[in-house]
Formats: sequence, C-alpha cells, structure tokens
Amino acid sequence: MFQILVAIYGILIAAMVGCIGIILNSKAKNRQSMVRLVSMAIFTAASYTMSLLIPAGYQRLAILMNGLYFIGTDWLAMILMFFVADYTQSFLPTRMPRKLLVVLNIADTISLLVNTFTQHVFTMTRVTLSWAEYWQVQYQPMQYVHLALVYLMVGHCFGLLLYRLIKAPRIYKGKFGSIWFFLCVLIVLNLINVTLHTEFDYSVMIYSPFAMAMCYFVLYASPRNLLESMHSTLVEDSVIGLFVYDDDKRCVGVNRAAKEMFDVGDDEIYQVAEQYLEDWEKEYQGDLKDVMGAERQVVRNGETMYIYVNYQKLLDDKDRVLGSGFQFEDRTDVIKQYQDNKYKATHDALTGLLNRDAFEARVIEILEESDDTYYMMCSNIKDFKLINELCGSEVGDALLLAQAEVIRTDETGNSISTRLYADKFCTLLPKSEFDEETFKQNMNDIMDRVLSIPLKTHFYFGVYEIVDRTEPVWTMCDKAMMAIDIIRGSYEQFVNFYKEDLFQRVIREKEIIGEFDKAIENGEFHMFLQPQIANDGKLVGAEALVRWIHPGKGMISPAAFIPVLEKSGLIHKLDLYMWEKAAQQLQKWRREGRENLCISVNISTKDFYLIDIHEVFCELAKKYDFDTKNLKLEITESALMKDVRKIMKNMDDLHALGYDIEIDDFGSGYSSLGMLKDIHADILKIDMIFLQDTENVERSSTILKNVISMSKELGMPVITEGVETKEHVDFLRSAGCDMFQGFYFSKPINVENFEQEYFMQTGA
Ligand code: C2E
Ligand code: CA
Ligand code: CA
Repeated sequence: MFQILVAIYGILIAAMVGCIGIILNSKAKNRQSMVRLVSMAIFTAASYTMSLLIPAGYQRLAILMNGLYFIGTDWLAMILMFFVADYTQSFLPTRMPRKLLVVLNIADTISLLVNTFTQHVFTMTRVTLSWAEYWQVQYQPMQYVHLALVYLMVGHCFGLLLYRLIKAPRIYKGKFGSIWFFLCVLIVLNLINVTLHTEFDYSVMIYSPFAMAMCYFVLYASPRNLLESMHSTLVEDSVIGLFVYDDDKRCVGVNRAAKEMFDVGDDEIYQVAEQYLEDWEKEYQGDLKDVMGAERQVVRNGETMYIYVNYQKLLDDKDRVLGSGFQFEDRTDVIKQYQDNKYKATHDALTGLLNRDAFEARVIEILEESDDTYYMMCSNIKDFKLINELCGSEVGDALLLAQAEVIRTDETGNSISTRLYADKFCTLLPKSEFDEETFKQNMNDIMDRVLSIPLKTHFYFGVYEIVDRTEPVWTMCDKAMMAIDIIRGSYEQFVNFYKEDLFQRVIREKEIIGEFDKAIENGEFHMFLQPQIANDGKLVGAEALVRWIHPGKGMISPAAFIPVLEKSGLIHKLDLYMWEKAAQQLQKWRREGRENLCISVNISTKDFYLIDIHEVFCELAKKYDFDTKNLKLEITESALMKDVRKIMKNMDDLHALGYDIEIDDFGSGYSSLGMLKDIHADILKIDMIFLQDTENVERSSTILKNVISMSKELGMPVITEGVETKEHVDFLRSAGCDMFQGFYFSKPINVENFEQEYFMQTGA
C-alpha cells in the first residue's frame, strides 16, 4: 500500500516533467515563469517523496529531506505568488516586498537546513502503522513561523485570484477560476495535514493535477474559450447581419443585426432566412457562385434601406462544403450621404433646380440622345434688384422659388432648367412644347401672386433655337441672354428670339472691349479734326473726332465702338484721352501764334457719372496753358435732357472755368425747344437731319430758319453740321447761320493734314 502511494507520487512527478515539455513547446508569453513554477513543484514533491522513502535509522537524513520539502514549499509559494501577480496583472509586488520575501525565504531555508542538526523547527519520528512504516513530522513552535511565511504568500495568491475572478467579465472567469479552484484544494489538503496531523501530506498530490490544469487552462482552454466567446460576441453584436446555413440549407444561426434588418422576431427569423436562401438560389439559378454580392433595397417603416448582400459558400480547409451564409451590410447611411452630397453638388440650394455643371452635362446628354429641335430659353426678371429693395429679399426669393416651381412642373423628361445666378434661369426645352402665350400667362400669374405691391414688372425671356448641337452649352445660354439684352427695359416686349446677326454684333462688342485698353496704350486712337468755318469763309476751328486705326482692321469709325464703350462704362477713358490731345493741340497752336483757333470736343453723357468733369477740365487748363474759351465742350441734347440738375451744375462749373458749351445734335431729340429755356449753353449745334431730309425739304428749311433766328434772339451763335453742298452753305448763310461744319468743307482729317490744308491756304 505504502509502495503504491509512493508510486503514485512518482507518476505524478513524471507527469509534471511532461508538463514542462508541453510548456516549453508552447508559445505562451509567461512560459518561463510557468516552467520555474512546475520545476519547483517537482523539486518539492520529489523531496517530500524522498523523505518518505528514507529507511529507519536515518533520522537525520529524513529530517534533511523533509526540510528540503519545506524549503521547496517556501520557494514554490513565492514563485506562485509572482506568477499569479503576473497572470492576473493586478498587483505586482514592488521591489521592496519582493526583496523582503526573498530574504525571508533565505532565512527560512537556512533555518530549515540548520534544523537537520538542531531540530528547532520540526523533528521526525518513525511511525509504524498496520500497512506502513514511515517518518512522521513532529512540529516545534518554530514550524509555525515557516507556515506563516508560506501561507502569507499563498494567501496573497488566493486573494488576487479571487478578486480577479469576481471582477472579470464572464469570458475571463474560467481563466482565473480554474487556478483559484486548484489553489483552494491545495490549501484545504495542506490545512488538513497541518491541523489534523494526518500520516501523509496529500496536498503534494495536488501539485501535479494543478500543474496539468494550469497547462490546460493557461495554454489552451482559456485562450480558446476567450476566442470563441469573442467570436460569438462579435457575431452577435456585429452591425453586419448574418444568416448561416448547414449543408442541408437549414438555417443554423442568425444574429441580432439580421433580425433587425428583416424586422422579424426570434420565432420567424429562421423560416425567413431559409426562404431567403431559396429565393436567392432561384434568382441566380445556374449562375450561383461560391462568393457573390448584390445591392438590395428594402423599405422599412416607409424608409428605403440600402443593403449590400454578400453570399458565401462555407468550405473547410479541404474545400468540402460545410454550409453557406449571407452577410447583410446596411449601407443606407453611406448611400444616403452620397446621394445627399450628390444632390447638393448638382442642385441649386435655393430652388432645387440643377446647378450649372449638372445642367450643362444634362443638356449635352439630351441633345445627343434626341433628334427633336430644342430651344434654349433664358429668363430674367425686370427690375429684380428693385423688387428686392422694395419688398425685401424674402419676396425676391419667393419669386425665384415660384418661377423654379413652374419651370420644374413644366419639365417633361426632355426639359431641364438651372438657375445661373441671381434671377437668371436657363431652360432647355423641345421647341414643340413651347407655347409662348401659356408661358407668359403662367409667369404673369406668379408675379401677381407673389408681389404684394403693384409694381409694373415682368419676366423677360430670351429664346435661342439650337441650330448647332455641338456648340458649348454656355454659348447657347449666352445667345438666349443676348436676346433678352435687346428688350431689356421694355414694358411691352417680354419674349425675344435670338437672331444670328445679334451674335456677331455681341462678338464684335466683346472684341472691342477686350482690345480697348491695349489700343489706348499703343496709341491706336487718333484725333481727327473736321474744320468749322465761319460764314465769312474763315476757319474758326475744328471738331475733334476720334478714329481708331487698328493694326489689323484698319480705320474703325466711332459709330462702331463709341456706343459699345458707352454701354460698358469705358467711354470716359477715351474721352479723357481725346480731351488731352485737344488741349495739347491748343497749347501748340497758341505757341505758334494761332490763339484764335478753337477745338470742340465731345462729352458723352456717361462721363458725367464716371468722372469729375469739372476737375478734369480744371487740371487740363492748368497743365496745357491754353485759353479755355478755345476748347468748346459738346454735350448732346439727349444728355442734357437726362439729368438736368446734375448737368446744369456741371455746366455752371465749366462756365466758371471759362469754357463754352455747345448743344450738340440739336433738333434730334424730342424736347429740344423746352430744354433751351432752362439750359444756359453758349452755342447751338444743329443736327444734320434737317439738311439731309430730302422728303420734306420745305418744312426742314422752315424749321432751320426759325431755329437759327430763335437762337439769335437768345444770343446763341449757331453752327450747323452735315453741310455737304454749296446749296446748303448758301441757304444757311441766308438764314443767318454763323458757322458750318461738313463734308462740303472737309471730312475729318488727321492733324497733320489739317494743318497743311488750312495753315497753308488761309494763313490763319
Ligand atoms: P457727332 O458728334 O455728331 O459728330 C459728327 C459726325 O458727323 C462725325 O461722325 C462726322 O464725321 C460726321 N459728319 C461731319 N460732316 C458730315 C457731313 O457733311 N455729312 C455726314 N453724313 N456726316 C458728317 P463720326 O466722326 O463718325 O462720329 C460719329 C459720332 O461719334 C459723333 O457724332 C460723336 O457723337 C461720336 N464721337 C466721335 N468722336 C468722339 C469722341 O472723341 N468722344 C465721344 N464721346 N464721342 C465721339
Ligand atoms: Ca459732336
Ligand atoms: Ca453732332
């Protein structure tokens, strides 16, 4: 019996040696401390077993062996403590207690070794039982010091493990619980031995199962359980829905996300899943791949969900089919975000119509796809700025929204619209769908509905029939806009169709504006002079008329560019240039002794708004030192009628500087006579229409005669332009006209020619 017990101890020790092999073969992080622990357990168990085997008569040897066993328990408890501290990662004894423990252990070790001779800790007596004869330990009081030390360390391990066992999440409980359990058994068995003085210390038997259990749990079971529970947690909590089927196509697993996506309870979900697989296989009959995906839409609570479905055959490592599975990825947020971004990127925030880029792309598409004739139609609201100012921008916005609404509801598949900016909309629509009257009516209704005040305003529409479908979209829109430009300001005409010459005109205008600054810099503008002759035949002076001598196009007449420059607000630059040229010329003539010669320069209406005319002429007089009486300023009758007060103020200032003012083109306007009453001009320049009117010669002559005599009475000298024949001269002379200007005398010529012609001839 005793032998069997010893043999069991032997087997258990051998098993521990096996454990060391397993530990060394593992990849465990803490395998070194485990090896240390098990080695110490082997040493301890072996010492104990050996002590049992010492034959009678060798008491001292038995005491030594048992002493080694106690020494083993000291170090085993310490190594276990360090291992547990590491394993639970909770409380790692700091250096001080560690060192203290080592010192205490060494002291105890020495004490136990010395005990071989002194027997102050324990002694051993030979005991004879019916079934065995062996050495039994007899405790001395000092033994309790040793026990206290061991229990201090083991108790610490117990506490740490218990604490972690309670605190750890469910999946980690096995990791700490297993070791804690064996420790408990060990403590109980040892306590039994210590307190009841049993024949053998059975706690030593537990070392081996403890070591094996530790190997199993630490190296294998805990990591695997952990992995499994993590897997199942991941699967259950995953946002990706899962259906898993066995090879019989029976659903064996679903997770929470799948239940939510299919919106069915636990009892139905398996049935739904199996039906789903059946439908899927039907749908992809003959085309079913081992791995495949598809985009699906489902409506849940009235909301569309976008789900990416991934189907997969589940194979083992030898490619045998285990079953199959679906993954459902809810992409609703991503797709909605994408759609939202796309919508924002392609639509106008205020009206919800397509934005410029999207409109352009769509127009190109439509024109490519369809053979119908299309209109590009642009719209614009008359006085939109004024509406915003008078009614508030909310009303302005409401108007734009209402317009967008009408355009949108009119939108058939073939018609699309955009808002270019502000109140400018652009619509592409088939010619066949354009009904001008209905359209106008709809738009007028909007105005009446939205506008709270009786403002006489309306929409303008420019329509361009697309001829060249490959033309850039924005050129088409520009053309439609050009058609609006023609009728802008009109109260009667709402719709205008683009005509090709309009385009050419606009192109020319753009060229003029584009080249203008460079042309001034390069001196391409020249001052031509057209003589003004007194009725006694003497040269009075000349009118300065601009000529653009273009390096490529030759001489360009002012009629081609002056109106463009006026429209685009550039005219003042040219006029400043011309006035300076005239002033220089007067300075030169004065220096040459021709101080009686005058030059008339033209002032455009726009100049009054773009520059400080008074200051300019003040500076010119200072700079060039000419007699201001000699520079006559021509202001057209129509300019004078526009902003009478402003212009009168300017005229007074110019008079104060000594300049004379001529009313240009007199008689071409509507209220010529009325104006004379208020405006203090110095010279009246009669428009050439009276001389050129070949149909009503009589009437024109009468008017001319009377105008001339009237201005005499007002004390204003008269000059008539457009004098082309000797008859004209004779007639005007007899009517009392003071001066003449016209082709009869000379066309406008350059300064050099002028000087040659007149200074040689008249000697003036
Ligand atoms: P305007 O001020 O009425 O100038 C007279 C125009 O009549 C000139 O045309 C001149 O060449 C033309 N003319 C003169 N005599 C006769 C004639 O016997 N028969 C006919 N049929 N025409 C005659 P032009 O030089 O082509 O100038 C046209 C208009 O351009 C000018 O009309 C004037 O309004 C404007 N303009 C010319 N130069 C300037 C300038 O430097 N500044 C501004 N703001 N306007 C200018
Ligand atoms: Ca003039
Ligand atoms: Ca004129």
